Formats: sequence, C-alpha cells, structure tokens
Amino acid sequence: MNILIINSGSSSIKYQLLEMPTAQVICAGMIERIGSTESISTFKSQEYKIEKIYEITNHKEGLERITALLLDSEKGVIESTEDIDAIGHRVVHGGSAFTETTLIDNEVKNKIKMFSPLAPLHNPANLVGIEMAEKLFKSAKQIAVFDTAFHGTVPEKAKKYAIPTELYNEKGIQAYGFHGTSHKYVSEKATEYLGNNYAKLISIHLGNGCSITAIKNGVSIDHSMGFAPSNGLIMGTRSGDIDHSIIFYMVNTLGYSLDEVNEILNKKSGMLGLTGFNDLRDIESEASKGNTNCVLALKMNAYRIKKYIGAYTAAMNGLDAIIFTAGIGENSSLMRQLVCKEMDYFNLHLDNAKNELRSSTIREINTKDSEVKILVIPTNEELEIAKQVFNLLN
Ligand code: ADP
Repeated sequence: MNILIINSGSSSIKYQLLEMPTAQVICAGMIERIGSTESISTFKSQEYKIEKIYEITNHKEGLERITALLLDSEKGVIESTEDIDAIGHRVVHGGSAFTETTLIDNEVKNKIKMFSPLAPLHNPANLVGIEMAEKLFKSAKQIAVFDTAFHGTVPEKAKKYAIPTELYNEKGIQAYGFHGTSHKYVSEKATEYLGNNYAKLISIHLGNGCSITAIKNGVSIDHSMGFAPSNGLIMGTRSGDIDHSIIFYMVNTLGYSLDEVNEILNKKSGMLGLTGFNDLRDIESEASKGNTNCVLALKMNAYRIKKYIGAYTAAMNGLDAIIFTAGIGENSSLMRQLVCKEMDYFNLHLDNAKNELRSSTIREINTKDSEVKILVIPTNEELEIAKQVFNLLN
C-alpha cells in the first residue's frame, strides 16, 4: 500500500510517502513558511532532491504544489493520484473523543473542528490539510492519527485538574497530553530492544515542543503537556509550567491584554525568552563562549526535566529506562549530560564517551553498572502514523 502522511502545521506542511508494510520511504518533503512570498519547498526521493522557493499563500496552494511534485512526469513518484491508497493525517488534538486512529468522515471532521479552540495553532491547519487531501486524492482513504490518542490510558487521578468537577465532566477540561505518536513509537522501540521486563519507562521528547511521558507496561500513565501543548518542560518558545497567577498579575496589574499574554507565553518564552535564541545549537554555542543567560537557560531546562523524571519515578514506583528523542534529545549530548548529572540516587549513570557517539539507530548510553538504562532513540512519527493507518485498513 502507498500511504501518504501529511502533517499540516500552522505555517508548514510536512509529508512523506511510504510503501507499507515494507516501510520503504518513496519520497519525503516539506513546505515551510506558507503565507510568505518566499515559501520553501523541499522534496527528496531516491533519485532527486529538489529545493524551490515560491510564493505560497495558503495550505490549499501548498498541497496543490506537493501533489504536482508527486505527479511530475520526470521527477515525480506516482502516475496518478489513484496510486495513493490512503492518507494518514497527523491531528494534534483529539480531545476525549478519539483514543484510536480513525477513518475520517464528516462527523470526525466536525469533532476535530470542535476541538480547535483547544489547539488553535494546530487543529485548524490539520483540518485544512484533510479537506484539501479529500479533494486532491478522491480515491484515497483519509485517516486521522491523533497526538493525544496514546494518552487515553492516563488515569483520572493524573489527568483531572483540581478545579470544580463540572469543568471536567461537562466542559472537557483535563490534561490531554501530546506528542503521543512519538512517545508510542520510541517506547515500543525501547521495549523491542530491552524486553518486557523493562516495564517502567520515561520518554523525553525534546524538539521545538518538548514533553515527557511516564509509560508503565506499554501504556501512558502521565505526561507533562496538559490541556494544550503548553505545560510542562521548557520549550523553544513556550514557557512550560508557570504559576497561573502570573497571568492575572500581568493582565490586572501590568496592563497586558490576554492576547498579549498568550503570545508571550507561547511564542516569546521558553529558551527564546530566556536567551534571545530558540535553536538549542545557538544557545549551546553562546554558552560555550560564556553567555551567562544561555548557561543558565540550559541548566533551567535540564533541571525541569530532572524534576519530572523524579516525579514519574515516584508515580511508577521505580524506573527501568529513560529515552531521549527528537531534535534536541537525539542530537544534544550536552542536554543529555546535564539531565543525567547527579542522578546516583536513581542508580542512573551516563557513559560520557557513549553519550558523544552519533548514530541514526537506537543506542544505549548508560554505563555498564547503571541500573537504569539510558537510550537515545530517533523518533519517526511518519512511520508510526503509516503503521497505524496500515493496521487500521488491514
Ligand atoms: P519539531 O518539534 O519541529 O519536530 P525537531 O524535533 O526537529 O522539532 O527539533 C528541533 C530542534 O532540535 C531545533 O530547534 C534545535 O534546537 C534542536 N537540534 C537539532 N540538532 C541539534 C544539535 N545538533 N544540537 C543541539 N540541538 C539540536
């Protein structure tokens, strides 16, 4: 089966065409900066690598460009849109309605729309991707894979906030958790590698968005992102955990509007707010030159992760392995080192030499005598989505 994966974000569309069940990647690409006069389109197949700059005003045009590339008579990879059997759409917020991968119909689309206020940066873009794909690939099955789905197993004691109970019962206010596709993928890889005896895992996804999940016996039992993808760890531009009274203070005493506070907390905070940079490579480089803001931001970031590791170890009454994944988790040996420093109480010991090695496959970077395993596992959300789509249809 040819399965096209579409990850339609607020200003970008990432895509990948996979042949399943072989998991062979036929092509992959991305359109970035949708809405600007200089949108960047990248496309890579086994034979060609194409990068072009166009003016792409909206997602509709973006998907039309992608379809044209796939169908291109010289460099394309399919002859007709009918060559695509199914399209797997990453949908960020499935609320409490979706805990499984789901075939899309009008009712599903309405629900995704209903959850848009819970993920205003993501769900509307996901929906546009679905509606365009339905028009362009009429014969393909359209399937939604929800970021929140993997966390459907989290018990009430962990997902319910201590606010009036009708807000949970009637208004759906609870912690949903995100990056589920990635946490599921890497935790399953860890189990394949370590075996079922290693039943208490902590998965640490550190990309532009960052989240941490406690996984016991293969299921998510707690996670750091809450009602929206903004709680928990310090991220590229998002604050993660803050005391909510700061919001009231900023509005009532300092005179910010609610929109301004929202913008600050989601787009101007995190590592960007602390240092002026949101890419960890820049922050590490500045820190090495002695930039004290950057040195402190790195320490704060690692400290927050450590606190969650402690909390989740307590929640699971033990810890067998931690997993680092995504852009920062897979590539930053410094962040891994800061997180794993002084964790003797947990019997978690990093092997510094192994930590510096690079590899595109799973690797174990703990010392031989460390009771807790430390794994670096490259995430592959597209493959996980393709697997789920394939399983649903077969
Ligand atoms: P997204 O959440 O957009 O999928 P990624 O998982 O691709 O993000 O992670 C992007 C982040 O990974 C970048 O912002 C950058 O901070 C970080 N990163 C990538 N490579 C490195 C590296 N070699 N060293 C440190 N950080 C890195």
